[in-house]
Amino acid sequence: VTKHFPVRGGLRRRGGPRRVVHAVENVSLRLYAGRITALVGESGSGKSTLARLLAQLYPLTGGEVRLHGVAVPTPRGRAFREYVSKVQLILQDPFGSFNPVATIASTLKRAVAIHQPAKRGAEQQAVIDGLLAQINLVPQRQFTEKYPHELSGGQLQRVSIARALAASPEVFLADEPVSSLDVSIRLGILNLLRRLTEERNVAMLYVTHDIASARYFAADTAVMYAGEIVETGPSEAVTQQAAHPYTQLLIASAPDPSRAGGDRVRDIGQPPSLIDPPAGCRFHPRCPYAMERCKTDVPESFEISAGHAAKCWLYADDPEARAKRADNAR
Ligand code: SF4
Ligand code: MG
Repeated sequence: VTKHFPVRGGLRRRGGPRRVVHAVENVSLRLYAGRITALVGESGSGKSTLARLLAQLYPLTGGEVRLHGVAVPTPRGRAFREYVSKVQLILQDPFGSFNPVATIASTLKRAVAIHQPAKRGAEQQAVIDGLLAQINLVPQRQFTEKYPHELSGGQLQRVSIARALAASPEVFLADEPVSSLDVSIRLGILNLLRRLTEERNVAMLYVTHDIASARYFAADTAVMYAGEIVETGPSEAVTQQAAHPYTQLLIASAPDPSRAGGDRVRDIGQPPSLIDPPAGCRFHPRCPYAMERCKTDVPESFEISAGHAAKCWLYADDPEARAKRADNAR
């Protein structure tokens, strides 16, 4: 898929080309039922845009999204609404996604009424109780009669997961689901998401800037840089034998509590403007291994080992790339 956003305002010469932000460029990604795929990258790399494209929050500029191999139907119409309910987005800030003047009970009731309209009265209440049980919250009145601001961030994120479950989703798109939460409760929420993914055979895209959590949490990892996916593979391979120079940089810059200086993060420079992205490999201005070709030719994706691939000329099988690779290993 590709997504370009028009640049609003700013300088544009009369009759000149329309300026766009190249937010997501020719990205291809596959999610699997019952499996978590992490989408890792710096802020502004296009991760959230990609998740929102999958949720059909805005139209694609190019490409296609498929569910079970079938292209998403055009907006409006029943098939489209069915797709949208099967693909549920969980956002970073749970407070922003709730109606502040609706109780938890009425929010869940509304979700069940939309997605399971045949359920009424006692049956509907049973569905709501079941949802709360799945997120490990006891369906007590003193809890469900509360308003969003009376809950902690962690409790509210659990409720937003319950609300998503009301739609019987096949895909969860969790965009930094724990980043705004207290460190002490993050693991509990991640474990809950993992359990639901397995039990309900849901495909989950876990968007994060934290590559360490990807390794812990996700079977597969895709690394995104400047609107492109630059490396994909089993999380173990991507994090332990990172192939793409950007992934290597990301890992080197992650805070490591075991290192002296604690969580000091190495300065790794700035991502490029997506209005005028660099030609060739978008990473070339920051890449320590850049070759001549990298400045002009968009790299292909090369397979490193089974299921592990990097979009980088270092892995092309030619003499210059081999020499650079040897250099890199030294
Ligand atoms: Fe570096 Fe070239 Fe690989 Fe891009 S293609 S990451 S510039 S070596
Ligand atoms: Mg984001």
